[in-house]
Amino acid sequence: METPIFLLRYDTECPDSEIMSGFLEAVIKRHKAGEIPITLFCTGETLNKRRHEFHTFWDEVRDSGYIDVQDHSYSHIGVGYEESRALAVIQADYQHSFAVHEDVFGKRPIGVALCGVSDSGRRLNGLDEIEKSRQELAMLAYLGIKIMPARLTSIGRGQFCSYAEMGYSDIMGYPSAESDTEWLWNKDPKTALSYVKKVVDEYWELGQHGSLIMHDWCQWQFGSDKELGLVQKIADYIREKGFRLATVSDCYHNETLWRDHI
Ligand SMILES: [Zn+2]
Repeated sequence: METPIFLLRYDTECPDSEIMSGFLEAVIKRHKAGEIPITLFCTGETLNKRRHEFHTFWDEVRDSGYIDVQDHSYSHIGVGYEESRALAVIQADYQHSFAVHEDVFGKRPIGVALCGVSDSGRRLNGLDEIEKSRQELAMLAYLGIKIMPARLTSIGRGQFCSYAEMGYSDIMGYPSAESDTEWLWNKDPKTALSYVKKVVDEYWELGQHGSLIMHDWCQWQFGSDKELGLVQKIADYIREKGFRLATVSDCYHNETLWRDHI
């Protein structure tokens, strides 16, 4: 296998510009200047309420090659749950979000991170588990999504894959696990760092690609400082181990990574 990939991301979902004051500037410093690839999966609501900030941010980073922006629904709505909302409601939510993305970033997203929600019943093991979740996947494919978390029941923890088995050979599945709501929220950043190091070691020993799910609000409120210093330490450890950091778009364009993996 070629060099294993590690995906770092911020699910960017805090619409409150006061709480998040300084975050985007820190992202520019840490990720653009520091050359640490990152994907920001942004909710439409967050972009809508902080349009100017995100527009300015994107102007500054769009050509860097280190920062990718993709979607996280408009209102943080559940997909892949046993009792998710009506399909038309979910579709309208995503369409609304994509329109805001086009407005703020001048481009339509081709990738999504699915939302963890508590109002839609049991989270399914995969999008192929029930008819409703298959319809949700078909809807996202119809809206032009090419980059999705690897959530097929047959894929387990989720490595890079193609959704070909479900009829979407042009959709890439990417690894998505280890949320900072588990390892950083209300915890000491030092404890968080040692936990993350163990996770990184495990991926390496298994010869797997790795991922960490981070959130804008969680890193900003619970990280070690207001400079994303914890993320720097995490990125350094991942690289020392031997992984290559990448954005989801980098991975999508590297077809040998996922085309043959079902
Ligand atoms: Zn989320």
